Amino acid sequence: MPQTMLVTGATGFIAKHIAVKLLNAGHFVRGSLRSMDRATEVIEVLQPHMAGRRDLTERLDFAVLDLARDAGWVEAMDGVDVLMHTASPFPMTQPKDDNDLIRPAVDGTLRALRAAQGAGIKRVILTSSSAAIIGTDLSDGRDRYDEGDWTNPDRPGTTAYTKSKTLAERAAWEFVTHEAPDMQLTAINPVFVLGPPLDKHYGTSLQVIERCLRGKDPMLPQFAFPIVDVRDVAEAHLRALERPETAGHRIIVADKTLWFHEMAEVLKADHPDRKITTRKAPNALVQVLGLFDPAIRSILPTLGRFDQASNARARDMLGLDFISAEDAVRAAGAWLVEDGRV
Ligand code: NAP
Repeated sequence: MPQTMLVTGATGFIAKHIAVKLLNAGHFVRGSLRSMDRATEVIEVLQPHMAGRRDLTERLDFAVLDLARDAGWVEAMDGVDVLMHTASPFPMTQPKDDNDLIRPAVDGTLRALRAAQGAGIKRVILTSSSAAIIGTDLSDGRDRYDEGDWTNPDRPGTTAYTKSKTLAERAAWEFVTHEAPDMQLTAINPVFVLGPPLDKHYGTSLQVIERCLRGKDPMLPQFAFPIVDVRDVAEAHLRALERPETAGHRIIVADKTLWFHEMAEVLKADHPDRKITTRKAPNALVQVLGLFDPAIRSILPTLGRFDQASNARARDMLGLDFISAEDAVRAAGAWLVEDGRV
């Protein structure tokens, strides 16, 4: 049965893919924006992806919401059946003050949940992150993280973004446990999201692919990322909605982990005309570069680590069969090149 969803952060890389999935499944979407000025832009991005449906403007509307402000949240929930809370700041570089990320993430999540509770909305899908899972040590001989793991936000070197996602997801579960026991919350925990964006507003994650394709770095830092395609992340949100048994669960969405140089090899094979390096930089050198390059500095805690995340629950509960990490890299690279971004 068609339902009405409030999708927060509708200008985002992932949220636009979620909106496409929801609209094509026949649902109504209210997208939240920080300014109504971006409504036309979002409509124009979504329209070409409407599988044969011409009634987009009858099934899509917008609300102006800011994670850091109370204005508009009550009104935005009017007529809504399900809250999909994806909005959260995800900058490329970390701020001087961790609270610049933590406060909007945590307070915004609680604002969204309180407003949903006030409107009698029982179903909530939260876009959390593997950042809320992977920032701890695997102590008992396991080779990959699963949904039972929680990042320790107090661990030295934890970035503001990681703290923000961990504390926001914690706050959501605590809210549901203590203040809204009727609320059915599912957290979707994507790993590093690649794949094709729908437009040029593709946020932070594709900047890694941009950097590879530009070929300016003579060597690549030994970083490894578990990867998932954005189309699978969106599908996971839709399937979580369709499967009420996912309530009360965190679900990692992930294909496999690739080293940075393995991503570069995929891109080099697809774009042989480009000067793409696949050479590995010594870790000591990257530590020094991190002193000058804030983008490198923000991921130094993962230098040399090959963290893997289990997708067993996503396969089991959501029935997902993941697009390969290599194809997610390939699709991101192809889009960036075809669109002339690099
Ligand atoms: P994105 O493209 O940067 O989208 C973030 C969205 O949040 C944008 O719509 C942004 O609005 C909105 N937002 C940020 N601060 C806000 C505020 N103070 N008030 C209202 N809206 C605000 O990032 P994304 O990659 O799609 O990420 C979406 C969600 O997925 C986030 O929760 C992120 O933590 C999570 N996630 C992402 C990845 C990944 O690799 N991309 C992995 C795991 C989890 P504006 O357009 O106005 O800035």
